[in-house]
Amino acid sequence: MNLSRIIFLLTAMLFFYSVSQAQTIAYTGAGIIVGDGSFINNGVLIVDQEGTIQACGPIEEVDVQADEVVDLSGKFIMPGIINTHGHVGDVKGIEPGHYSAENIKDQLKLYAYYGVTTVVSLGGDRQAAVPLRDVNYKGTPEGARLYIAGGIVNASTPAEARKQVDANIDMGVDFIKIRVDDNLGNSQKMTSAVYEAVIDQAHHHDKMLAAHMFYLDDSKSLLKAGADYLAHSIRDKEVDGEFIQMIKTTDVCYCPTLTRDLSTFIYETKAFFFEDPFFLEAYDASIVQPLLSEESQERVKNSKSAQTYKEALKVALKNLKTLSDAGVPIAFGTDSGVATRFQGYFEHVEMNLMAEAGMAPSTIIKSATGDAAQCMGIDHVGILSQGKEADFLVLQQNPHSDIRAMRSIEQVFVKGVSVR
Ligand SMILES: [Zn+2]
Repeated sequence: MNLSRIIFLLTAMLFFYSVSQAQTIAYTGAGIIVGDGSFINNGVLIVDQEGTIQACGPIEEVDVQADEVVDLSGKFIMPGIINTHGHVGDVKGIEPGHYSAENIKDQLKLYAYYGVTTVVSLGGDRQAAVPLRDVNYKGTPEGARLYIAGGIVNASTPAEARKQVDANIDMGVDFIKIRVDDNLGNSQKMTSAVYEAVIDQAHHHDKMLAAHMFYLDDSKSLLKAGADYLAHSIRDKEVDGEFIQMIKTTDVCYCPTLTRDLSTFIYETKAFFFEDPFFLEAYDASIVQPLLSEESQERVKNSKSAQTYKEALKVALKNLKTLSDAGVPIAFGTDSGVATRFQGYFEHVEMNLMAEAGMAPSTIIKSATGDAAQCMGIDHVGILSQGKEADFLVLQQNPHSDIRAMRSIEQVFVKGVSVR
């Protein structure tokens, strides 16, 4: 082999090596919603080969040095949505009981399709979820990032409660979850002695305690006991000054899950979204057929609890507005992933309901990005700034002007990689 041939081969190898390596990419020209409430006109987002943000700012302040420049003029970039209260792996169609790793993977892709790039699964998580959560740290997720709470602690004594917390810790959970609720008088409520033990044991392991609740009084008691996150809206009555003071001084976040309540009564007639093309993009019309039967609709109409939750949603909307106006951090969440709460799509319905409650689009988006990340201690995503991982969406329209523009998703990136 002569020298020129060797040089040619070496050059060719070097060329193929360099193009096969992921490149640093600059996304230019878009309006950028940062995730902290701010907006950049004509911004630049630079993502390196590791999927980390190198720079994000106005074009005149960023030195654009990248292997590839992608012009996104006229479009909008924002951080991926973080759902701080979802569930994964259990439901197929509208039927529960299908828990598997495959199902979790499919659902994380489904969430990502609709722009949800992080899901905190608050309960019902089993061993199969652990490797899929670990991808967060070891690789690049193929869909939404996953965090888990394991089995919901439902002990009836403090000693049993501590054992259940420890079992979850052994499995490797990120959060501990409890329910403090009597389900509209239909079940026994967890006692304060038990939840105090759960909270203490969770904190002993440096984990946040997420509490399902319904009543204002329970919410106050949970805050007093040291709960770190309220996983639903207060729905029995309007929040008062004492509660606002308490939640602000404890720095606890409040997760509305308005669609949880909507899902209890919306199927009393044909749901408004069954023919929505955006819903049908990912969901086959056949899966909602059982919800259209007269028998099914009658059952919902005649369900006392469904009708109570319908009224409760009105209280929830009012409380959300009050708390948001008071400066309480709202952690976006839906409780989707339970049967008939459609993952990905319901996150968009939730945002519309938050707008209906009176929140400005920019506040809603902040709650679903930067605030959500901060609330859950998931600090590596949620805001588009240097050093964070590049989970972001490209939209055709500006959701800061109208929240329904969230539906104009064109591309979804997790750790810099396109997943839609
Ligand atoms: Zn839930």
